[in-house]
Formats: sequence, structure tokens, C-alpha cells
Amino acid sequence: MIKLSKRQDEILQIVKQNGPITGKEIAEKLSLTRAALRPDLAILTMSGNLDARPRVGYFFNDNYAARRKAKNYLHQNVTDYKAHPIVVGKSTSVYDAIVQLFLEDVGTLYAVDSEGHLAGVISRKDLLRASLGNRNLNELPVSVIMTRMPNIITINPEETLLEAAKKMIHNHIDSLPVVKEVDQQTNTYLLVGRITKTTITRAYLEIMEEKAD
Ligand code: ADP
Repeated sequence: MIKLSKRQDEILQIVKQNGPITGKEIAEKLSLTRAALRPDLAILTMSGNLDARPRVGYFFNDNYAARRKAKNYLHQNVTDYKAHPIVVGKSTSVYDAIVQLFLEDVGTLYAVDSEGHLAGVISRKDLLRASLGNRNLNELPVSVIMTRMPNIITINPEETLLEAAKKMIHNHIDSLPVVKEVDQQTNTYLLVGRITKTTITRAYLEIMEEKAD
């Protein structure tokens, strides 16, 4: 993606507001000669920002703008979009975890140890599975049914939404704990947030609905 000059940006704005517009008309608006404008128009057309049609003029290329935004979106940092993680202690009962899931209106809970380090992931299906059969859900701690370290797929705050989306899709999971490493050898991580498929969709909407720049 090329960085546009100030004048190229001005041209884009003019075409966006007035297109289709001829090179001559753009030159007039900028008080420039047609010849002085030609290199910028060539760059904008070749890069895909503008479309040109003979005898009609220049158009703003919406598809290109959307693609540029989509690319921009995917390279945003996880830290700017992460949500607050909903946590329970490892010894919380499955029953209380189910109540918590409803109260907080989330799909995944995270279990932490006494120091607040990430110990496990408890998803809706984990809770449903535990509810099958005749076990007493008040007596059953989530530590028995959760997915635990070192099997948890995590993401760092500096990683991008693209990396988060890839991890979720490739691992068939709905969410990722956002963590800061305390000690990799012992799999000790501090939980600082969560990224879900909803986070990714919301960020996408936000960026796509921003006024075209
Ligand atoms: P659901 O159970 O609602 O379909 P998921 O698809 O996220 O939700 O979970 C499927 C399984 O993957 C569950 O057993 C869950 O514990 C596990 N899981 C969820 N998130 C992660 C993660 N980040 N890392 C490893 N396992 C996970």
C-alpha cells in the first residue's frame, strides 16, 4: 500500500465528492495545469485508488477503498479491541460457573489460580457436557472439566486481529485469552483480556462504517 502525498489526497477528495470528473476540471479546482497533475493522476489510477473512463472522467474506486480499510482493520492490535475477561476460581462449582455465564452474558469463562494466573478455559460445551449424567454440579469443580494449560491457545496484546482470527478459525474455538507472559517455562500467564469472534466482527463493523477517508 503506497503512502499518498498531500496533493494526491486532495485529488482523491475532489474525485470522491465530484466524480465522475475530468482531469481538466480537477486541475481547475486545484489551480494547476493539466500537465502538472498528470503524474499524480497516473499514480492514483495505477494504484487502484481511482478508475478512469475515456471521455467520462475519473471515479473514486470504492472497492479499493474497502480493501484498504479491510487490510488496515486486520492489522489493528488486539489490545485496542480486547474485552474484559470473566474469571472464576479453579475450585468454583460447575453450577456456579453456569450461573456466572448467564449473569455476565458471555460464552466462555476463564479459570484462574490463587495468584490470578490463567489456569483454564470453560466454554458452553464444556458446561453442557458436564451437565449430562447424574453428577452433582454443586460438588463438581470447574478444574475437572476445563481445558487447562498447557493446552490453552493464547494471544498477546501486541498481536493483530488477523492473528487472533486465524488462531480461532484454525483451532475451532470461539475465543482467546489475551495474556502477558510471566514465565513461559512454567506456562505462567497473566490474563489481561479476551478476544472473541464477536470482538472481531464488532471491530470490522466499526472500521468499515467509519467515513471513507
Ligand atoms: P463452545 O464450547 O461454546 O463451542 P468453543 O468452540 O470456544 O466454545 O470451545 C470448544 C472447546 O475448546 C471447549 O472444550 C473449550 O474448553 C476449548 N477452548 C475454548 N477456547 C480455547 C482456547 N483459547 N484454547 C484452548 N481450548 C479452548
